Amino acid sequence: MSKSVLILGAGFGGLELSTMLSEELGDQVEVTLVDRDDSFSFGYSKLDLMFRGASFDSVKLPYSEVVKPGVTVLREEITAIDAAARSVTTSAGTREADALVIALGADYDLDATPGLSEHGTEFYSFAGAAAAARPIAALDSGHAIIGVCGAPFKCPPAPSECALMLSDELTRRGVRDQCEISFVMPLGSPVPPSPETSAALAAEFEARGINFIGGRRPARLEPGKVILDDDSALDFDLFLGVPKHRAPQVVIESGITEDGFIPVDPATLKTKFDGVYAVGDVATAGVPKAGVFAEGAAKVVARQLIAEIRGSGGTPPYDGRGSCYIEFGEDRIARVDIDFLSGPEKTGVFNAPSIDLRDEKDEFGSTRKARWFGMG
Ligand SMILES: Cc1cc2nc3c(=O)[nH]c(=O)nc-3n(C[C@H](O)[C@H](O)[C@H](O)COP(=O)(O)OP(=O)(O)OC[C@H]3O[C@@H](n4cnc5c(N)ncnc54)[C@H](O)[C@@H]3O)c2cc1C
Repeated sequence: MSKSVLILGAGFGGLELSTMLSEELGDQVEVTLVDRDDSFSFGYSKLDLMFRGASFDSVKLPYSEVVKPGVTVLREEITAIDAAARSVTTSAGTREADALVIALGADYDLDATPGLSEHGTEFYSFAGAAAAARPIAALDSGHAIIGVCGAPFKCPPAPSECALMLSDELTRRGVRDQCEISFVMPLGSPVPPSPETSAALAAEFEARGINFIGGRRPARLEPGKVILDDDSALDFDLFLGVPKHRAPQVVIESGITEDGFIPVDPATLKTKFDGVYAVGDVATAGVPKAGVFAEGAAKVVARQLIAEIRGSGGTPPYDGRGSCYIEFGEDRIARVDIDFLSGPEKTGVFNAPSIDLRDEKDEFGSTRKARWFGMG
């Protein structure tokens, strides 16, 4: 039996899903992968744009390299989704399929934090991260604030990484003593599911004189000043912000979100609509918003679709497991091994920072590059 699968979004989730379906089924499946962009980039490259002098072009992986049996990649903007009908409107027309997988990621709601666009610099988009490189390079005295404006947000360790890399950068330029760094976030600790990781980050902040303000959210920005949700205020010379997240507008307008994201059955990633799945940052699946979890969820959907096509038996539920690499400064990398769904409790096992783990992080990137894009 042949089946058509329409995948919306060619990020971590969409790329892994299309790769697995092609590997297992080849021409037995008709996969259409739709994205408005011409290339993919790893989220962590944003830190390379900010602190390592990388250009946006240098971290792009073009979709033209995705050549797989059974897979067609289309560059189109998705403008409407009718989940009940498994029908999607794009800039090129209407598309329908036997199975619809929504993997459109999370978008940013800058307006939820008044003044953020005008007086701060968000670093969670590629454009924002590229733009942040200049004021970071120019900072030689004063107060820098890293502020997380809402939860959930992508890659929970990323703002901590930003604080540590900023401290390194200022030290490298010999101006660290003239600068203060504060890190404000609505969560009480840097990585709540892993107390060990949070403790290691807190120790690193203390050693570097980074002021951690947990349990507080930047509510609005004025010129040179951020007002937190308890009405206290902090003056700043540079505000590096993580905007509040929500599903892309087209997903919200399709009426399938609750509290900003698409609810799914965490075991299967199925939405309440027959034949419609949602994976990755766009969904609420009980796991953190990060590429590794989008990829893991995509594998679970792929196994179900493969089993359906082959007429084979049941497939294991999503285990919510994934490893996140954390830049700890001074070129060291730590790793936290998360398990959110397989056991009775959420766990996050911490692996101490080392130079050796950098090779592992590089390998994480190069294996995906080879698997998804056929690039050596
Ligand atoms: C600073 C930073 C560091 C990070 N570091 C890590 C890390 O080390 N490890 C990790 O696992 N994760 C990391 N992440 C998180 C990771 O990038 C995301 O969680 C991941 O990309 C989510 O995958 P996804 O498939 O759900 O969505 P995405 O990868 O965001 O893909 C969604 C796709 O949908 C497309 N799209 C959206 N709307 C439309 C539309 N209307 N029409 C057509 N196409 C559309 C987009 O162009 C995009 O290609 C980091 C994120 C940031 C910001």
